[in-house]
Amino acid sequence: MTTLTAPFDLQKVREDFPLLTTPFHGKPLHYLDSAVSGQMPKPVVERMAHYAQFEHTNVHRGVSTLSQEATDRYEEAREKVRRFLNAGSLKEIIWTRGTTESLNLVAQAWGRVNVLGGDEILLSAMEHHANIVPWQLLAQEKGATIKVLPITDQGEILLDAIEELVTERTKVLGLTHVSNVLGTVNPVKDIIARAKAKNPNLVAVIDGAQAVPHLRPDVQDLGADFYAFSGHKLSGPTGIGALYGKQALLEAMPPWHGGGNMILSVAWEKTTFIGLPGKFEAGTPPIAAAIGLGAALDYMEALGWEKVQAYEHALLEYATERLSALPGLRIIGTAPGKASVISFVLEGVHPHDAGSILDHEGIVVRAGHHCAQPLMKRMNVPATTRASFAYFNTTDDVDALVDAVKKTLEIFHG
Ligand SMILES: *Cc1c(COP(=O)(O)O)cnc(C)c1O
Repeated sequence: MTTLTAPFDLQKVREDFPLLTTPFHGKPLHYLDSAVSGQMPKPVVERMAHYAQFEHTNVHRGVSTLSQEATDRYEEAREKVRRFLNAGSLKEIIWTRGTTESLNLVAQAWGRVNVLGGDEILLSAMEHHANIVPWQLLAQEKGATIKVLPITDQGEILLDAIEELVTERTKVLGLTHVSNVLGTVNPVKDIIARAKAKNPNLVAVIDGAQAVPHLRPDVQDLGADFYAFSGHKLSGPTGIGALYGKQALLEAMPPWHGGGNMILSVAWEKTTFIGLPGKFEAGTPPIAAAIGLGAALDYMEALGWEKVQAYEHALLEYATERLSALPGLRIIGTAPGKASVISFVLEGVHPHDAGSILDHEGIVVRAGHHCAQPLMKRMNVPATTRASFAYFNTTDDVDALVDAVKKTLEIFHG
C-alpha cells in the first residue's frame, strides 16, 4: 500500500465530486471509468445551473440584452476552446455535439468534395469506430479505399510503414491522439510530418477525444488539419464538443447541416451562408453545455495541466506495477508513452464476467470492445477490461481494483 502525494489539494478536489463518496452496492465507489466519460466537478455543474436559472435565452437572436449576454457567454466559451487548442482564430472552432459529430462533419463536408473514386484514406489500426465508420460511409459512396496503418504488439504505430502506405492518392490520414484502449499517446506531430513529406496534399484528421482529459493539444504545433474532441471526456457535460479546422480548409468547405443561424439570406432562388464558424452551426446549440465546457477548461487550467499529467502518470505507474504482479493478468497496450488508461485480460475469465464482479465490489470500469473492434481483432482478444484514471483518483482506488481482480481470479481459479 502506497500513497501518492498529488501536486494539488486532492482532498479538496475530491469534494467537488459527491459521487465519489456515495456508497455503491453498499461499498465505497471507485470510479475508474473516466475514459468512458469524465465526472463533472461541482463548479461546472453550478455554472450550467446558473446559466439555466439566470442567463438563458437563445443565442445570436435579436437585440435583447439577455440574448446578447447569453451570446457573449457562449462565445467566451468558444474562446476558451481556442486558447486550449492554441488555434489561431475563433473562426477555426466549430461547436458540435462531440467527437463523433466532428469527425462526421469532416468526412461529409470536406470528404464529399475532396475524396474521389480511387482515392485512399489511411487510418491507424487503433482508431475508435468514430474515426472509422464515417470514412467507410464516404469511401463506399465515392469508391475510395481504406488502408490501415499497422501497430506493434505493444500498441505503437509502425512509423516505418507510413512512407510505404502514403501514396499520391492518399487524401486523409485519420489518427487518434491517444488510444482509448491501449492508452498509447501517439507521436502525432512526427506521424503527420512523415505522411505529409510523402504527400503534402493529404489532410490529417486527429481524434483528440482521449487526449484532452490528460493534456493540452497544440493544434498548430502538431500540424493537424482537423482536431476533434468531446466535452464529456474532460470534466465537461455531454452533448457538446468541438472541431478545430484550418481556416482555409473550412472556408472552402460547403455547409453540412442547413437551417437557421447559419444563413445570411434565404430566398427560393438562392440562399447564402454566413462565414465561419457559424456556417457549420445550424439550429439552436446546446448553450448551457458550451458554457459548461468552458467552465471545465477553467477548472483544469486552475488545477494545472502539468500537475494533472504528473499525478495521473504516477497513478498509471503505480497501477501498472501492481496489476502486472498478478499472475493470470495481461495488460493490453504496453507502449512506453501512455496516458492513464490500462486495458487488461484475465486468463480464463471473460472481460464481461470480470466487469460484473468488479462492479459488485464498487469498482466502475468498462468491459467490452471499447468501440474499437478492429483493434480487438489486431490484439487477438475478444474484449478487455479497462481501468482509466483521472486526477481525482487515488492509490486507494488502485488498491481496491487490485483486490477485486484478485478476488475475481480466485473465484474462477480457486
Ligand atoms: C469517446 C471517444 C470517441 C467518441 O466520442 P463521443 O463523445 O461519443 O462522440 C471517439 N474517439 C475516441 C478515441 C473516444 O474515446
